[in-house]
Amino acid sequence: MTSFVLSPDTIALGTCAADKTEAILLAGELLVAAGHIAPDYVTSLMARENVSDTYLDHGVAIPHGLTADRHLIRRTGIAVLQLPDGVEWGENRRVRLVIAIAAQSDEHLSVLKRLTRLINDPERLSALIHTADPGQVIAALTGDAPVQTIGQASDLDAESFEWILDYPNGLHARPASEWVKTARRHAGDIRVSRGNERADGKSLLSLLQLGLACGDTLRVEAGGAGAAEALARLRDVMQKLTREECSHAVSALAPAMQTSQAWRPGARAVILRGLNASPGFVIAPLLIRPRQSRVIPDQPMSLGDAGRLLDAALAITRAELIALGDTSAARFGAAQAGIFKAQAELLGDTDLIGLCCRLIVEGHGPAYAWQQATHTLADRLSSVGVPLLAARATDLRDVSERVLSHLLPDSASRSRFDLPEGRWILVAEDLTPSDTAELDPSRIAGIVTVHGGPTSHTAILARTLSLPALVAAGDAVLALDNGKDAILDAATGRLILPGDKSDLESARDWMGTLSERQARDADSRQLPAITTDGCRLEIGVNLNRPAQVKEALEFGAEGVGLMRTEFLFLESDHLPGEEEQLATYFSMQDALDGRELIVRLLDIGGDKQVPHLALPREDNPFLGVRGIRLLLRRPDLLEPQLRALYRAALSGRPLSILFPMISTLAEVNDLKTECERIRGELGAPRVDLGIMIEVPAAAAMADQLAAHVDFFSIGTNDLTQYVLAIDRQHPELAAQADSLHPAVLRLIRQTIDGARLHQRRIGVCGGLAGDPLGAALLAGLGVDALSMSAGDIPAVKAMLRNHSMEELQRAALRSLSCADAGEVRRIAEELA
Ligand code: PEP
Ligand code: MG
Repeated sequence: MTSFVLSPDTIALGTCAADKTEAILLAGELLVAAGHIAPDYVTSLMARENVSDTYLDHGVAIPHGLTADRHLIRRTGIAVLQLPDGVEWGENRRVRLVIAIAAQSDEHLSVLKRLTRLINDPERLSALIHTADPGQVIAALTGDAPVQTIGQASDLDAESFEWILDYPNGLHARPASEWVKTARRHAGDIRVSRGNERADGKSLLSLLQLGLACGDTLRVEAGGAGAAEALARLRDVMQKLTREECSHAVSALAPAMQTSQAWRPGARAVILRGLNASPGFVIAPLLIRPRQSRVIPDQPMSLGDAGRLLDAALAITRAELIALGDTSAARFGAAQAGIFKAQAELLGDTDLIGLCCRLIVEGHGPAYAWQQATHTLADRLSSVGVPLLAARATDLRDVSERVLSHLLPDSASRSRFDLPEGRWILVAEDLTPSDTAELDPSRIAGIVTVHGGPTSHTAILARTLSLPALVAAGDAVLALDNGKDAILDAATGRLILPGDKSDLESARDWMGTLSERQARDADSRQLPAITTDGCRLEIGVNLNRPAQVKEALEFGAEGVGLMRTEFLFLESDHLPGEEEQLATYFSMQDALDGRELIVRLLDIGGDKQVPHLALPREDNPFLGVRGIRLLLRRPDLLEPQLRALYRAALSGRPLSILFPMISTLAEVNDLKTECERIRGELGAPRVDLGIMIEVPAAAAMADQLAAHVDFFSIGTNDLTQYVLAIDRQHPELAAQADSLHPAVLRLIRQTIDGARLHQRRIGVCGGLAGDPLGAALLAGLGVDALSMSAGDIPAVKAMLRNHSMEELQRAALRSLSCADAGEVRRIAEELA
């Protein structure tokens, strides 16, 4: 009998291997030779060993690759290596059967189920270790005997709860071992059942035998004294793991840009994955910062003394944060320094102070009360599940530590980094904004954190410092060896532990190639983006302030494709009036010296909130009164901006106005009426009026909207979040929001068709325009202009100059019929 996942081709009987690595390599080679996996998946099998132990029991090991590398599996398959003499698998365990699994989905769990059944049957297992008949192996692993159960009905006089397993990859060994660890803290029995299949909650094997998949309903029961507490503990662990499991599953789906263009290590290297928070490629030793936990002694004192102490600590901390804000402003820019200003505000939060005072009145010491109060509120914030609130929780914990260092000056003060000589890849559980701001960049080559998201303050600061940073890399990174050389390739979301010296050498070569490419691109950055067959694209820059123009022109910008005006409001504590705005638009025109300037009207709402506008809180701000929806309701915002813009147009220098977040023709008409009224009042010239295409409705109606405006600018950041229904700042999902998704490209194509129908100019100003592969496809789809961050311009220009429009069009056409973003990226990579 031959199973489609297991055939005689993938069974090697009577073999031997010198060590575990060789055994895995041999099994991997069988899978490669039979066409089940790409050769790179063998690296993934190795990498898994560093993340979790694949030893099952009774001399059986089940190497399987990392979930993130599933795309390297061509067809589900199993390889069996019979090693009658055994091979050392660490911790004095010998393995005689290596069963390497390459499973595209949940098949992995059903194989595991069969295996665990076998393990409970020593006779059959021993036969497999010695058989010379591959057919016997196939029959044993693909047979269909019923699962062994531990009793049919509940025989426990037990407490219980029901839970639906929501781990995307089902219950696999890593979370199951956490369940077991927790269950073992209880003296009585703990059982987990699905229907009438039941398992011992204290046994990993027993749990895995259930083969639980995502969506299965479980009943967890506990008996004996303290059963209720044990269940509460277990439930807590099970739920907490959900977040981790989801984030692993998501990093598995992280942008496929990672694979083909990236540097590839040898088979023995170990790859750990996270999310890119700040791109860059560095080689440096690891500096592991262990988990910090601090026990604050409860030292009650008189109410008067406690109050005075707390007051003084808050005042010093406030001054410290303001000073840090000032020094950071020079280093990071005003917007980033505002993080510390916001932290200083937290110190006066009434809920926080109220809770702290209550604890002091109840008889606790001020330091203890402060820590309890801040942690209670921070936990509350992070449990809401809203990314922005979770970021506030990190800020609160950061501030909490600062205050504690003043309340308890003698105890271990706020954790600082005493960085040894040299340059390091700093690995930490999480970094607060203070930590990041105070890092000495001459000693830090890169950052890796267990938690965090790409939109956290820490990520923003790392980008400002141009420090490569990987976040959400998982607990495994804390267990790595201090001082070991590693390669951080943040853009591809990987921390790589070299397998041998040749990995380090080839990584160094790769760094050389990267910098050569950057130097080449930089050399030609002032040349126009003309394809080899003579088609020219206009290349603009996205920026906020006049002061940024000079640098943008040096990077090769031909004009400003998007001036975001939010900064005028975000970085000021009052509403900027007409005169103040006019001065800014004038200096922008001065700096551009006759080049194009497209100014976007205020786009407030969604992720961009202006505290002094005191707008009502919305449950779904991205779907709420945002951008033009707000301006049409607030003439006090719209009118001064339009007046300032038309007055700037009176100078006769180039200026166009762009409306954000358009979703209906009615909005366009209302805005045009306002523009005409103000223009008439000022006697100003007509200027081009364009709309952002970033709401799917606008893309779908592009043919009609185009009749009413002068140009379109596609905002791929928002278009992607609205098309894929993924919050663009979501710490777990944002990595999936790939603008190269064919659904997004199809809407872009539809928008271009609509614009062409009325001979309207069409550009793209979202992040996709700054990705060379994205820019190539956008050009092929037919856009006229691309606008991006200044730093992206040289590479995009080089990409366009290296290809003919015909090539780009062919690739773009193919991309429209792809199934997912990964497939699109592979097509685009053929152009790289
Ligand atoms: C976009 O949505 O792509 C865009 C350019 O606008 P912003 O990122 O400012 O929302
Ligand atoms: Mg937008």
